[in-house]
Amino acid sequence: MLIKPLQVSTELKILRSLNIRMQLSSSEKQYYTNLEKGYEGEKKFEAILLESKLNDFIVSDLLLEKNNSSYQIDSLLISQKTIYLFEIKNFAGDYYIEMDAWYSKSGSEIKNPFDQLKRNESLLRRLLHDFSLSSTITVEPYLLFINPEFTLYQAPLHLPAIFPTQLNRFIDKLKIQSKSSKLNRTYQKLAEQLVSLHLVKPRISRIPEYKFDHPKKGIICGSCCSSISVIIENKVICHVCGYRESVDSTILRSVEEFVLLFPDRKITTNDIFEWCQVIESKKTIRRVLKKNFHYIKQARFSYFIPRNDS
Ligand SMILES: [Zn+2]
Repeated sequence: MLIKPLQVSTELKILRSLNIRMQLSSSEKQYYTNLEKGYEGEKKFEAILLESKLNDFIVSDLLLEKNNSSYQIDSLLISQKTIYLFEIKNFAGDYYIEMDAWYSKSGSEIKNPFDQLKRNESLLRRLLHDFSLSSTITVEPYLLFINPEFTLYQAPLHLPAIFPTQLNRFIDKLKIQSKSSKLNRTYQKLAEQLVSLHLVKPRISRIPEYKFDHPKKGIICGSCCSSISVIIENKVICHVCGYRESVDSTILRSVEEFVLLFPDRKITTNDIFEWCQVIESKKTIRRVLKKNFHYIKQARFSYFIPRNDS
């Protein structure tokens, strides 16, 4: 049972948009690609857990805070007596371990994923202790390598890892356990308590600086992410993939992106007109905004805010 699904973080949403609309530096691009890969890996694992139809509670993607430190937990599986804690890595290629340090085959050192797992494990243990559950439930932490193209040389036997070649067997074991697992109210409450601690605010991140004038404006295709320049009979049509969308829904999607990228900027007809570029009249923009947003009329500067009910 899925208690909290994985969601695309605000940071990743912003970087997706900026990656299309401006030139990212090579380190920014690398950071963005890593986030995208991490998300893909977590999505894949969540899908595997859901397909397995376990009786247990699945909590994906928790951002927690304790003593001013933040903790990113990729996936938790709450079963009877055991919480499985997963740190999911979507690494592809060859890696090796030497004296507790992790390297890619090219020789560059990477952040030791085991350290992160240990950190999350100790946080989880402390939380269970706070909830007075530390004697009832044990924590089993795992590094989970989801990408079938991953190989780790010189991995110590005791490393709490699940490699791609072991994943099916691990899931089979969970399935067998889950059949006899009886999750009472205590477990449900624990799952809910953990989710209630999830921080919604975006993490301080490595998003490049930009202003309204900076990213390339225009409408992005809702299917293939190309820039769109054609509108025929009230339909916005992508010249690359042929995707068709109504003008109204395209404008709304563009406003959503505008709000994501410029949270401090007011939504005005002029700004959205400039942001969309290809919509020919301001009247159309104003009509769509009036229909979907709350209009704040001011003598010189009117603007729109999201409706409470939306
Ligand atoms: Zn397209």
